[in-house]
Amino acid sequence: MTDLERARADLVIANRILAHENVVDAYGHVSVRDPRDAKRFLLARSVSPEMVVPPDIMEFDLEGNALGGDARQPYLERFIHAAIYEARPEVLAVVHAHAEEVLPFGITGAPLRPVIHSGSFMGEQVPVWDIRDKFGDTNMLVTNLPQGRDLATRLGGNNVALMRGHGFVAAARSLIEVVRMSVYVPRNARVQMAAMQLGAVKPLSRGEIAARNAGYKPQSPETWRAWEYWATRAGCKELL
Ligand code: MN
Repeated sequence: MTDLERARADLVIANRILAHENVVDAYGHVSVRDPRDAKRFLLARSVSPEMVVPPDIMEFDLEGNALGGDARQPYLERFIHAAIYEARPEVLAVVHAHAEEVLPFGITGAPLRPVIHSGSFMGEQVPVWDIRDKFGDTNMLVTNLPQGRDLATRLGGNNVALMRGHGFVAAARSLIEVVRMSVYVPRNARVQMAAMQLGAVKPLSRGEIAARNAGYKPQSPETWRAWEYWATRAGCKELL
């Protein structure tokens, strides 16, 4: 298997996991930077993540243009991915999803915070991006590069940003990492919401977040364990 074939198979697995874990539904997407060329990324054609198969994967440049004369319909919001890869050279994988659990934190003043150990990877701060601040009344979708770049600017050096009234983006150094973060961010949001009904919330400290980051090893058996588990649950063990 070439690096490109491996990346394509891993991207299919990521799509199927995110669908099976209810992070995405008919909408939402995940991409990976092209292992052969840092100025390109891989993203499925406009199809629901649960249905993605390897031939659906398209290639794009960092302006969101499809490469190789591929005329299939791409996702309208591919500019989210293009702009984040452009702004963040260390980022190798990006997720955009509409998970309902995070939405209240994008439309109120209540900040989303890591409150459970598995939520630590969102980092200390989760900025909220509001498309209306710069672009006025839109259809709320990120449909061009300037909008994508504005979102990437708001994300800054963080791992996750909320999109007001829409969803979230997550950026990481690997597909496994971005999938894990995207699975746990909504669960963290659900726990935080429940906790806020009981009383004041105690988030993870800066030191606890740092300690968990320091202990994270991309190639460790613990990291692979979750990927294998989720892929098997999602019915695509044969792609591992
Ligand atoms: Mn969207």
